[in-house]
Amino acid sequence: MGMKIYNSLNRRLEDFEPLNPEQVTIYSCGPTVYDYIHMGNARTALVTDIIRRYLLYKGYNVKLVQNLTDIDDKIIRRAAELGISVKQLAHQNGEAYFEDSQRLGIQPADVHPKATEHIREMIDLIQILIDKGAAYVVDGSVYYRVDQFAEYGKLSNRKPEDLLAGARVEINEEKEDPRDFDMWKAAKPGEPSWDSPWGKGRPGWHIECSAMAMKHLGETIDIHAGGEDLLFPHHENEIAQSELATGVTFARYWMHVAFLKIDGKRMGKSEKNFILLRDALDHYPTEVIRHFLISAHYRHPLDYNQESLTKSEGALRRLNNCLDTLKQYDGEVGLNEKTDVPLQHAVQEMKARFTQAMDTDFNTAQALGAIFSLVSEVNKAFNTLDEMAAPVLAEAYQALAETCQVLGIYNNVETQEETGDNVEQRDELVKLLLEIRQEARNRKDWETSDKIRDRLKELNIQIQDTHHSTTWKFTTK
Ligand code: AMP
Ligand code: ZN
Repeated sequence: MGMKIYNSLNRRLEDFEPLNPEQVTIYSCGPTVYDYIHMGNARTALVTDIIRRYLLYKGYNVKLVQNLTDIDDKIIRRAAELGISVKQLAHQNGEAYFEDSQRLGIQPADVHPKATEHIREMIDLIQILIDKGAAYVVDGSVYYRVDQFAEYGKLSNRKPEDLLAGARVEINEEKEDPRDFDMWKAAKPGEPSWDSPWGKGRPGWHIECSAMAMKHLGETIDIHAGGEDLLFPHHENEIAQSELATGVTFARYWMHVAFLKIDGKRMGKSEKNFILLRDALDHYPTEVIRHFLISAHYRHPLDYNQESLTKSEGALRRLNNCLDTLKQYDGEVGLNEKTDVPLQHAVQEMKARFTQAMDTDFNTAQALGAIFSLVSEVNKAFNTLDEMAAPVLAEAYQALAETCQVLGIYNNVETQEETGDNVEQRDELVKLLLEIRQEARNRKDWETSDKIRDRLKELNIQIQDTHHSTTWKFTTK
């Protein structure tokens, strides 16, 4: 089976066929760098990272472009508040964005274009639209004439009358039609500005993405991604500008990531209910945060709460324990047709389920389900396996390591130095205490055994005795 992607443009699941089988092109709307990124921004950035990793795993070449919006009202306002230049603020936050993304195991895009470095391209694109009669100049500002693009509204599925009603709210005397939007803003005193054929000014937000996507990826790109808030008007306007200028399809598959929520509301800067990614990374290892952020399919909303992160922490512990045990069999060979261990079927099934899930619109929730079913199978099978089983365990290790690496939840080398060591050390210490407790239990020294259990409980570590072993987990802090 080939891959399928839910295309927001046609509101259905479609077969994925890149325009050029040699290289998939992706453009993802990146951050506006007026502040550090929050967990909601991280969800969208991580989904793009997973899309790229999975396409690479499937054998495609991928070119990913993700922009940095380094000039807009919010940046200008914040820089003024802080008493630093717009350039300095954008630079600092751009660097912080790369640092945070790297800590989350997000591989850098192939190109991270900045708006202020593409003014020329934006001016050229605006000029084409003016020449075609699709844009007009009023007092040094340039507006897009929405009624010139017959397909306006096709992405957000809005009719002209709905659009009119929506646009009337914001009154701007300069516009011929309330739906029109600005591509070039005439300079205001004290704000950064650039020379243009229409006088000094700065670009609008939508023109930025049209110009940079086409410059780095060509007139038609395969996948355009962003958070669901960008679908209208940002992406609708990107389509209008690009397609009217070139006459060809701008993006073939539109993907929109649903919101990360907190207490039922969208996590956002303006809502002031955000958790910064860097703060979360100070408390949890990379893999735990990645696991949490991909625990729901990207088109479903996901709720940020302590309980879910604690669950991800427990899941990662189970996964790592399993991988640590399996690792010792890595390299064992000798599987032959006589080997008949049920676990072998479980490994094959996991691989098939993983691929099926990821092939179907990158369903990471189901992919994780497949991985964790195999972890349970391995744990169950462990006590009953004979030496014939060693190559099967090696196979299980390979399959788990490979799929977890696609999702970036195993062996995240870059971040291991920062947080992984401490976590590993902590886990080893808990393991040691549980061993001492087991020895106490063996000699019926209940006093010591209970003391260890109670003291761990005070540290929010709850232990549970089963037939064969003792497991542990963090309780809510
Ligand atoms: P911004 O810096 O606000 O332009 O956002 C950068 C990216 O994060 C965009 O693709 C947004 O759509 C996305 N984004 C913002 N808030 C959320 C959220 N709560 N959940 C998911 N994605 C978000
Ligand atoms: Zn954009």
